Amino acid sequence: MGQTLFDKIWAQHSVKELGDVSLLAIDRILLHERTGGVALRSLRDSGRSVRGVERVFGIMDHVVDTFPGRTDKTVMPTGADFIRTFREECARNGITLFDIGDPRQGIVHVVSPEQGIVQPGVTLIAPDSHTCTQGAIGAMAWGVGSSEAEHALATGVLRVAKPANMRIRVTGALGLGVTVKDLALHILAELSAGGGKGCAIEYCGEAIEALEIEARMTLCNMAAELSAFNAMIAPDDKTIAYLKGRPFAPQGALWDQAEAYWRTLKSDDDAIFDRDVTIDASAVAPMVTWGASPQQASPLNARVPAYEEVAARESRESYQRGLDYMALESGAPLEGIKIDAAFIGSCTNSRISDLRAAAAVLKGRKVAAGVKAICVPGSSQVKLQAEAEGIDKVFADAGFEWRESGCSMCFFAGGESFAPKARVVSSTNRNFENRQGPGTRTHLASPAVVAASAIAGALADPRKL
Ligand code: SF4
Repeated sequence: MGQTLFDKIWAQHSVKELGDVSLLAIDRILLHERTGGVALRSLRDSGRSVRGVERVFGIMDHVVDTFPGRTDKTVMPTGADFIRTFREECARNGITLFDIGDPRQGIVHVVSPEQGIVQPGVTLIAPDSHTCTQGAIGAMAWGVGSSEAEHALATGVLRVAKPANMRIRVTGALGLGVTVKDLALHILAELSAGGGKGCAIEYCGEAIEALEIEARMTLCNMAAELSAFNAMIAPDDKTIAYLKGRPFAPQGALWDQAEAYWRTLKSDDDAIFDRDVTIDASAVAPMVTWGASPQQASPLNARVPAYEEVAARESRESYQRGLDYMALESGAPLEGIKIDAAFIGSCTNSRISDLRAAAAVLKGRKVAAGVKAICVPGSSQVKLQAEAEGIDKVFADAGFEWRESGCSMCFFAGGESFAPKARVVSSTNRNFENRQGPGTRTHLASPAVVAASAIAGALADPRKL
Protein backbone atom coordinates (compact mmCIF):
# COMPACT_ATOMS: atom_id res chain seq x y z
CA MET A 1 0.00 0.00 0.00
CA GLY A 2 1.26 3.48 -0.84
CA GLN A 3 2.25 6.04 1.74
CA THR A 4 1.05 9.58 2.28
CA LEU A 5 3.53 12.45 2.27
CA PHE A 6 3.04 12.74 6.02
CA ASP A 7 3.71 9.00 6.54
CA LYS A 8 6.93 9.24 4.56
CA ILE A 9 8.35 12.13 6.56
CA TRP A 10 7.19 10.52 9.79
CA ALA A 11 8.94 7.23 8.91
CA GLN A 12 12.12 9.04 7.91
CA HIS A 13 12.24 10.72 11.34
CA SER A 14 11.16 7.81 13.53
CA VAL A 15 14.05 6.95 15.83
CA LYS A 16 12.11 4.36 17.83
CA GLU A 17 8.55 3.09 18.08
CA LEU A 18 7.27 3.16 21.66
CA GLY A 19 3.86 1.55 21.47
CA ASP A 20 1.29 4.32 21.05
CA VAL A 21 3.90 6.95 20.31
CA SER A 22 6.99 7.36 18.17
CA LEU A 23 10.24 9.00 19.11
CA LEU A 24 10.80 11.48 16.30
CA ALA A 25 14.01 13.28 15.39
CA ILE A 26 13.43 17.04 15.35
CA ASP A 27 15.31 18.97 12.68
CA ARG A 28 14.40 22.57 13.60
CA ILE A 29 13.26 24.25 16.81
CA LEU A 30 12.05 27.84 16.71
CA LEU A 31 11.74 29.80 19.94
CA HIS A 32 10.21 33.18 20.70
CA GLU A 33 10.66 35.54 23.63
CA ARG A 34 7.31 34.81 25.29
CA THR A 35 8.28 31.24 26.27
CA GLY A 36 11.77 30.67 24.86
CA GLY A 37 13.73 32.35 27.65
CA VAL A 38 11.83 30.42 30.30
CA ALA A 39 12.43 27.10 28.49
CA LEU A 40 16.15 27.79 28.11
CA ARG A 41 16.49 28.89 31.73
CA SER A 42 14.69 25.80 32.92
CA LEU A 43 17.08 23.70 30.86
CA ARG A 44 20.03 25.40 32.48
CA ASP A 45 18.55 24.99 35.99
CA SER A 46 18.19 21.25 35.41
CA GLY A 47 21.84 20.99 34.38
CA ARG A 48 21.10 20.28 30.70
CA SER A 49 22.30 22.01 27.57
CA VAL A 50 21.00 22.54 24.05
CA ARG A 51 21.81 19.63 21.76
CA GLY A 52 22.61 20.65 18.17
CA VAL A 53 22.39 24.39 18.62
CA GLU A 54 22.66 25.01 14.86
CA ARG A 55 19.09 23.70 14.40
CA VAL A 56 17.66 26.18 16.94
CA PHE A 57 16.59 29.75 16.10
CA GLY A 58 15.36 32.51 18.37
CA ILE A 59 12.97 35.20 17.14
CA MET A 60 11.56 38.25 18.91
CA ASP A 61 7.93 38.64 17.89
CA HIS A 62 5.25 37.89 20.45
CA VAL A 63 5.45 40.73 22.95
CA VAL A 64 7.71 43.22 21.17
CA ASP A 65 6.42 46.72 20.71
CA THR A 66 5.48 47.56 17.10
CA PHE A 67 5.45 51.35 17.39
CA PRO A 68 7.97 53.17 15.17
CA GLY A 69 11.32 53.72 16.91
CA ARG A 70 10.70 50.87 19.32
CA THR A 71 13.12 49.79 22.03
CA ASP A 72 12.98 46.87 24.47
CA LYS A 73 10.14 48.64 26.25
CA THR A 74 6.73 47.09 25.72
CA VAL A 75 3.17 48.04 26.51
CA MET A 76 3.02 44.83 28.55
CA PRO A 77 4.59 45.64 31.94
CA THR A 78 6.81 42.52 32.07
CA GLY A 79 7.55 42.33 28.34
CA ALA A 80 11.03 43.81 28.67
CA ASP A 81 11.93 41.01 31.14
CA PHE A 82 10.89 38.35 28.62
CA ILE A 83 12.98 40.06 25.95
CA ARG A 84 16.05 40.42 28.17
CA THR A 85 15.92 36.85 29.49
CA PHE A 86 15.49 35.41 26.00
CA ARG A 87 18.36 37.48 24.63
CA GLU A 88 20.67 36.41 27.47
CA GLU A 89 19.77 32.74 27.13
CA CYS A 90 20.19 32.73 23.34
CA ALA A 91 23.63 34.33 23.74
CA ARG A 92 24.65 31.89 26.51
CA ASN A 93 23.67 28.91 24.36
CA GLY A 94 25.01 30.26 21.08
CA ILE A 95 21.53 30.27 19.47
CA THR A 96 21.06 32.39 16.34
CA LEU A 97 18.72 35.18 17.39
CA PHE A 98 16.73 37.52 15.16
CA ASP A 99 16.59 40.33 17.68
CA ILE A 100 14.84 43.69 17.70
CA GLY A 101 16.73 45.83 15.18
CA ASP A 102 17.95 42.82 13.17
CA PRO A 103 16.68 43.14 9.58
CA ARG A 104 15.71 39.44 9.75
CA GLN A 105 13.34 39.95 12.73
CA GLY A 106 9.63 39.32 12.35
CA ILE A 107 6.84 36.89 13.17
CA VAL A 108 8.34 33.42 13.55
CA HIS A 109 6.18 31.81 10.82
CA VAL A 110 6.96 34.60 8.37
CA VAL A 111 10.69 34.69 9.11
CA SER A 112 11.41 30.96 8.95
CA PRO A 113 10.29 30.47 5.31
CA GLU A 114 11.71 33.86 4.36
CA GLN A 115 15.13 32.82 5.64
CA GLY A 116 14.93 29.30 4.18
CA ILE A 117 15.01 27.74 7.66
CA VAL A 118 12.00 25.55 6.99
CA GLN A 119 12.53 23.18 4.08
CA PRO A 120 10.58 20.31 2.54
CA GLY A 121 10.79 17.07 4.49
CA VAL A 122 12.09 18.51 7.77
CA THR A 123 10.43 18.16 11.15
CA LEU A 124 10.02 21.59 12.71
CA ILE A 125 8.48 22.56 16.03
CA ALA A 126 7.81 25.84 17.83
CA PRO A 127 5.85 26.66 20.98
CA ASP A 128 3.12 28.33 18.95
CA SER A 129 -0.07 26.81 17.58
CA HIS A 130 0.35 28.35 14.11
CA THR A 131 3.59 26.52 13.40
CA CYS A 132 1.49 24.52 10.91
CA THR A 133 1.85 27.57 8.60
CA GLN A 134 5.23 26.21 7.57
CA GLY A 135 3.77 23.00 6.20
CA ALA A 136 3.14 25.07 3.07
CA ILE A 137 6.79 24.39 2.22
CA GLY A 138 6.29 20.62 2.46
CA ALA A 139 7.66 20.34 6.00
CA MET A 140 6.15 18.47 8.92
CA ALA A 141 5.71 21.49 11.19
CA TRP A 142 3.57 21.60 14.30
CA GLY A 143 3.09 23.58 17.48
CA VAL A 144 4.20 22.21 20.84
CA GLY A 145 4.05 23.26 24.48
CA SER A 146 7.10 24.91 25.98
CA SER A 147 7.97 21.81 28.05
CA GLU A 148 8.00 19.73 24.84
CA ALA A 149 10.24 22.36 23.25
CA GLU A 150 12.52 22.09 26.26
CA HIS A 151 12.65 18.29 25.88
CA ALA A 152 13.51 18.57 22.19
CA LEU A 153 16.15 21.19 22.92
CA ALA A 154 17.89 18.84 25.33
CA THR A 155 17.52 15.58 23.39
CA GLY A 156 16.86 16.36 19.72
CA VAL A 157 13.84 14.05 19.80
CA LEU A 158 10.21 14.17 20.88
CA ARG A 159 7.59 11.54 21.73
CA VAL A 160 4.62 12.08 19.42
CA ALA A 161 1.38 10.16 18.93
CA LYS A 162 0.73 9.70 15.21
CA PRO A 163 -2.33 11.58 13.94
CA ALA A 164 -4.68 10.28 11.26
CA ASN A 165 -4.18 11.28 7.61
CA MET A 166 -6.74 13.67 6.15
CA ARG A 167 -6.77 14.93 2.56
CA ILE A 168 -8.52 18.13 1.54
CA ARG A 169 -8.65 18.28 -2.23
CA VAL A 170 -9.61 21.68 -3.60
CA THR A 171 -10.87 21.41 -7.15
CA GLY A 172 -11.52 24.11 -9.73
CA ALA A 173 -10.34 27.70 -9.43
CA LEU A 174 -11.01 30.61 -7.10
CA GLY A 175 -13.13 33.32 -8.70
CA LEU A 176 -11.94 36.82 -9.53
CA GLY A 177 -11.39 38.82 -6.34
CA VAL A 178 -11.61 35.72 -4.15
CA THR A 179 -8.52 35.00 -2.07
CA VAL A 180 -7.01 32.10 -0.19
CA LYS A 181 -8.20 33.62 3.11
CA ASP A 182 -11.74 33.33 1.79
CA LEU A 183 -11.00 29.69 0.94
CA ALA A 184 -9.66 29.08 4.47
CA LEU A 185 -12.79 30.60 6.05
CA HIS A 186 -15.02 28.71 3.62
CA ILE A 187 -13.39 25.41 4.65
CA LEU A 188 -13.84 26.31 8.32
CA ALA A 189 -17.51 27.10 7.77
CA GLU A 190 -17.94 23.77 5.94
CA LEU A 191 -15.95 21.50 8.26
CA SER A 192 -16.22 23.36 11.59
CA ALA A 193 -13.48 24.35 14.02
CA GLY A 194 -13.08 20.70 15.03
CA GLY A 195 -13.07 19.45 11.44
CA GLY A 196 -9.40 18.51 11.41
CA LYS A 197 -9.10 17.28 14.99
CA GLY A 198 -6.55 14.52 15.41
CA CYS A 199 -5.50 14.77 11.76
CA ALA A 200 -2.50 15.74 9.71
CA ILE A 201 -4.03 17.52 6.71
CA GLU A 202 -2.63 17.39 3.21
CA TYR A 203 -4.05 20.04 0.88
CA CYS A 204 -3.97 19.13 -2.80
CA GLY A 205 -5.85 19.65 -6.06
CA GLU A 206 -5.59 22.12 -8.91
CA ALA A 207 -6.68 25.11 -6.82
CA ILE A 208 -3.84 24.40 -4.37
CA GLU A 209 -1.29 23.93 -7.16
CA ALA A 210 -2.36 27.32 -8.54
CA LEU A 211 -1.63 29.07 -5.24
CA GLU A 212 1.63 30.95 -4.77
CA ILE A 213 3.73 29.91 -1.78
CA GLU A 214 2.66 32.82 0.45
CA ALA A 215 -0.99 32.01 -0.18
CA ARG A 216 -0.31 28.37 0.70
CA MET A 217 1.07 29.61 4.02
CA THR A 218 -2.20 31.43 4.76
CA LEU A 219 -4.13 28.22 4.12
CA CYS A 220 -1.85 26.00 6.22
CA ASN A 221 -1.84 28.67 8.96
CA MET A 222 -5.57 28.32 9.47
CA ALA A 223 -5.36 24.54 9.87
CA ALA A 224 -4.80 25.42 13.54
CA GLU A 225 -8.39 26.73 13.51
CA LEU A 226 -9.55 23.35 12.20
CA SER A 227 -7.88 21.83 15.33
CA ALA A 228 -5.60 19.82 13.05
CA PHE A 229 -2.23 18.44 14.17
CA ASN A 230 -0.73 20.24 11.20
CA ALA A 231 -1.14 20.81 7.46
CA MET A 232 1.13 20.21 4.50
CA ILE A 233 1.34 20.85 0.79
CA ALA A 234 3.67 18.70 -1.31
CA PRO A 235 6.65 20.68 -2.61
CA ASP A 236 6.61 21.53 -6.31
CA ASP A 237 8.45 23.80 -8.75
CA LYS A 238 7.05 26.87 -6.95
CA THR A 239 8.39 25.66 -3.60
CA ILE A 240 11.82 25.01 -5.03
CA ALA A 241 11.95 28.38 -6.81
CA TYR A 242 10.81 30.06 -3.57
CA LEU A 243 13.62 28.51 -1.51
CA LYS A 244 16.45 28.98 -4.00
CA GLY A 245 19.05 31.43 -2.67
CA ARG A 246 17.44 31.95 0.74
CA PRO A 247 20.08 32.45 3.46
CA PHE A 248 19.60 29.13 5.29
CA ALA A 249 18.68 27.05 2.24
CA PRO A 250 21.33 24.58 1.02
CA GLN A 251 23.85 25.92 -1.48
CA GLY A 252 25.91 24.42 -4.32
CA ALA A 253 26.09 20.61 -4.45
CA LEU A 254 24.00 20.36 -1.29
CA TRP A 255 21.21 22.25 -3.05
CA ASP A 256 21.24 19.71 -5.88
CA GLN A 257 21.01 16.83 -3.40
CA ALA A 258 18.26 18.58 -1.45
CA GLU A 259 16.25 19.37 -4.56
CA ALA A 260 16.46 15.76 -5.75
CA TYR A 261 15.13 14.63 -2.35
CA TRP A 262 12.42 17.31 -2.21
CA ARG A 263 11.08 16.18 -5.58
CA THR A 264 10.38 12.72 -4.11
CA LEU A 265 8.14 14.20 -1.41
CA LYS A 266 4.57 13.50 -2.40
CA SER A 267 1.82 11.08 -1.47
CA ASP A 268 1.76 7.88 -3.51
CA ASP A 269 -1.15 7.56 -5.92
CA ASP A 270 -2.45 4.56 -3.99
CA ALA A 271 -1.96 6.10 -0.52
CA ILE A 272 -4.99 5.68 1.72
CA PHE A 273 -6.22 8.66 3.72
CA ASP A 274 -8.32 8.15 6.84
CA ARG A 275 -10.49 11.11 5.82
CA ASP A 276 -11.02 12.58 2.39
CA VAL A 277 -12.81 15.88 1.73
CA THR A 278 -13.36 17.71 -1.55
CA ILE A 279 -13.97 21.43 -1.73
CA ASP A 280 -15.06 23.26 -4.88
CA ALA A 281 -12.99 26.45 -5.17
CA SER A 282 -15.45 28.03 -7.59
CA ALA A 283 -18.12 27.99 -4.85
CA VAL A 284 -16.01 30.26 -2.58
CA ALA A 285 -16.97 33.93 -2.18
CA PRO A 286 -15.28 36.72 -0.18
CA MET A 287 -15.91 35.70 3.43
CA VAL A 288 -16.19 37.32 6.83
CA THR A 289 -16.84 35.96 10.31
CA TRP A 290 -19.92 36.99 12.25
CA GLY A 291 -19.32 35.16 15.55
CA ALA A 292 -16.55 34.44 18.03
CA SER A 293 -15.18 31.30 16.36
CA PRO A 294 -13.47 31.10 12.95
CA GLN A 295 -16.09 28.55 11.83
CA GLN A 296 -18.78 31.23 12.26
CA ALA A 297 -18.06 32.58 8.80
CA SER A 298 -20.31 33.40 5.84
CA PRO A 299 -20.06 35.05 2.44
CA LEU A 300 -19.75 38.79 2.88
CA ASN A 301 -22.78 39.41 0.69
CA ALA A 302 -24.96 37.12 2.84
CA ARG A 303 -26.80 37.72 6.11
CA VAL A 304 -25.99 36.51 9.59
CA PRO A 305 -27.34 32.96 9.33
CA ALA A 306 -30.32 31.69 11.28
CA TYR A 307 -29.47 28.92 13.72
CA GLU A 308 -31.11 26.31 11.50
CA GLU A 309 -28.62 27.10 8.73
CA VAL A 310 -25.61 26.23 10.89
CA ALA A 311 -27.16 23.66 13.23
CA ALA A 312 -25.12 20.83 11.67
CA ARG A 313 -21.90 22.24 13.14
CA GLU A 314 -23.00 24.48 16.06
CA SER A 315 -24.75 24.06 19.35
CA ARG A 316 -27.50 26.62 19.83
CA GLU A 317 -25.63 27.88 22.86
CA SER A 318 -22.35 28.62 20.98
CA TYR A 319 -24.32 30.18 18.10
CA GLN A 320 -26.21 32.50 20.43
CA ARG A 321 -23.14 33.27 22.48
CA GLY A 322 -21.26 34.26 19.31
CA LEU A 323 -24.05 36.57 18.20
CA ASP A 324 -24.45 38.13 21.65
CA TYR A 325 -20.73 38.75 21.94
CA MET A 326 -20.63 40.33 18.48
CA ALA A 327 -23.81 42.33 19.18
CA LEU A 328 -25.40 41.01 15.97
CA GLU A 329 -28.77 39.54 15.16
CA SER A 330 -29.77 36.70 12.91
CA GLY A 331 -30.74 37.93 9.44
CA ALA A 332 -28.67 41.15 9.57
CA PRO A 333 -26.78 41.85 6.32
CA LEU A 334 -23.04 41.41 6.87
CA GLU A 335 -22.02 43.96 4.31
CA GLY A 336 -22.48 47.41 5.78
CA ILE A 337 -21.90 46.51 9.46
CA LYS A 338 -20.13 49.58 10.86
CA ILE A 339 -16.58 49.07 12.12
CA ASP A 340 -14.35 50.98 14.54
CA ALA A 341 -11.00 49.58 13.47
CA ALA A 342 -9.12 47.70 10.77
CA PHE A 343 -6.01 45.57 11.21
CA ILE A 344 -3.66 44.06 8.67
CA GLY A 345 -1.02 41.83 10.21
CA SER A 346 -0.30 38.43 11.84
CA CYS A 347 1.30 35.25 10.54
CA THR A 348 -1.86 34.63 8.50
CA ASN A 349 -1.85 37.68 6.24
CA SER A 350 1.07 40.07 6.63
CA ARG A 351 3.40 39.00 3.85
CA ILE A 352 4.34 41.18 0.92
CA SER A 353 1.61 39.70 -1.31
CA ASP A 354 -0.98 40.55 1.40
CA LEU A 355 0.26 44.12 1.68
CA ARG A 356 0.25 44.51 -2.10
CA ALA A 357 -3.35 43.26 -2.24
CA ALA A 358 -4.45 45.72 0.44
CA ALA A 359 -2.48 48.59 -1.12
CA ALA A 360 -4.20 47.97 -4.47
CA VAL A 361 -7.52 48.67 -2.73
CA LEU A 362 -6.24 51.60 -0.65
CA LYS A 363 -4.42 53.49 -3.38
CA GLY A 364 -5.87 56.97 -3.80
CA ARG A 365 -8.52 56.39 -1.12
CA LYS A 366 -8.94 57.43 2.52
CA VAL A 367 -9.85 55.45 5.61
CA ALA A 368 -13.31 56.47 6.85
CA ALA A 369 -13.46 59.04 9.64
CA GLY A 370 -13.34 57.49 13.10
CA VAL A 371 -11.79 54.19 11.96
CA LYS A 372 -8.46 53.30 13.57
CA ALA A 373 -6.47 51.49 10.91
CA ILE A 374 -3.15 49.72 11.53
CA CYS A 375 -0.77 47.75 9.33
CA VAL A 376 1.93 45.61 10.95
CA PRO A 377 4.19 43.94 8.36
CA GLY A 378 4.94 40.29 9.11
CA SER A 379 8.68 40.77 9.15
CA SER A 380 11.28 43.48 8.92
CA GLN A 381 12.11 42.10 5.45
CA VAL A 382 8.47 42.49 4.40
CA LYS A 383 8.49 46.03 5.78
CA LEU A 384 11.67 46.92 3.87
CA GLN A 385 10.32 45.39 0.65
CA ALA A 386 7.03 47.26 1.04
CA GLU A 387 8.88 50.52 1.64
CA ALA A 388 11.04 49.91 -1.44
CA GLU A 389 7.80 49.55 -3.46
CA GLY A 390 6.18 52.65 -1.91
CA ILE A 391 3.47 50.55 -0.27
CA ASP A 392 4.10 52.21 3.11
CA LYS A 393 3.17 55.54 1.53
CA VAL A 394 -0.05 54.11 0.12
CA PHE A 395 -1.02 52.89 3.59
CA ALA A 396 0.03 56.12 5.30
CA ASP A 397 -1.69 58.35 2.70
CA ALA A 398 -4.88 56.35 3.19
CA GLY A 399 -4.69 56.90 6.96
CA PHE A 400 -3.23 53.61 8.20
CA GLU A 401 -0.56 53.53 10.91
CA TRP A 402 2.57 51.89 9.50
CA ARG A 403 4.26 49.84 12.21
CA GLU A 404 7.32 47.73 12.99
CA SER A 405 7.00 43.97 12.63
CA GLY A 406 5.63 41.65 15.32
CA CYS A 407 2.55 39.76 16.47
CA SER A 408 1.04 42.99 17.73
CA MET A 409 -2.74 43.12 17.73
CA CYS A 410 -3.17 39.53 16.54
CA PHE A 411 -3.60 38.94 20.25
CA PHE A 412 -3.08 41.41 22.98
CA ALA A 413 -0.65 39.48 25.15
CA GLY A 414 1.93 42.07 24.16
CA GLY A 415 -0.31 44.68 25.71
CA GLU A 416 -1.35 46.43 22.50
CA SER A 417 -5.10 46.40 22.01
CA PHE A 418 -8.03 48.12 20.38
CA ALA A 419 -10.53 50.09 22.44
CA PRO A 420 -12.89 48.08 24.67
CA LYS A 421 -15.70 46.54 22.59
CA ALA A 422 -14.26 48.00 19.38
CA ARG A 423 -15.55 46.26 16.25
CA VAL A 424 -12.45 45.29 14.26
CA VAL A 425 -12.12 43.86 10.77
CA SER A 426 -8.89 41.91 10.86
CA SER A 427 -6.63 39.83 8.62
CA THR A 428 -5.70 37.63 11.59
CA ASN A 429 -6.71 34.03 12.34
CA ARG A 430 -8.71 34.10 15.57
CA ASN A 431 -11.86 36.01 16.42
CA PHE A 432 -12.12 34.63 19.94
CA GLU A 433 -13.64 36.74 22.69
CA ASN A 434 -11.20 39.41 23.88
CA ARG A 435 -8.53 38.26 21.39
CA GLN A 436 -7.61 41.77 20.25
CA GLY A 437 -8.40 43.56 23.51
CA PRO A 438 -11.07 43.60 26.20
CA GLY A 439 -14.47 42.97 24.62
CA THR A 440 -13.19 43.57 21.07
CA ARG A 441 -15.46 42.20 18.34
CA THR A 442 -13.29 40.75 15.59
CA HIS A 443 -14.46 40.01 12.06
CA LEU A 444 -11.86 37.87 10.26
CA ALA A 445 -11.38 38.65 6.58
CA SER A 446 -8.81 38.86 3.79
CA PRO A 447 -6.45 41.86 3.52
CA ALA A 448 -8.48 43.15 0.54
CA VAL A 449 -11.73 43.00 2.53
CA VAL A 450 -10.02 44.68 5.51
CA ALA A 451 -8.78 47.49 3.26
CA ALA A 452 -12.15 47.97 1.55
CA SER A 453 -13.92 47.97 4.92
CA ALA A 454 -11.50 50.53 6.35
CA ILE A 455 -12.38 52.86 3.48
CA ALA A 456 -16.11 52.28 3.74
CA GLY A 457 -16.16 52.41 7.55
CA ALA A 458 -18.19 49.21 7.37
CA LEU A 459 -17.73 45.64 6.16
CA ALA A 460 -17.31 46.01 2.42
CA ASP A 461 -16.59 43.94 -0.68
CA PRO A 462 -13.40 45.10 -2.45
CA ARG A 463 -14.81 43.92 -5.79
CA LYS A 464 -17.31 46.78 -5.67
CA LEU A 465 -14.65 49.49 -5.34
S1 SF4 B 1 0.83 36.52 14.73
FE1 SF4 B 1 -0.66 35.72 16.18
S2 SF4 B 1 -1.05 33.61 15.60
FE2 SF4 B 1 0.82 34.30 14.56
S3 SF4 B 1 2.52 33.64 15.85
FE3 SF4 B 1 1.99 35.73 16.47
S4 SF4 B 1 0.47 35.50 18.10
FE4 SF4 B 1 0.63 33.50 17.08
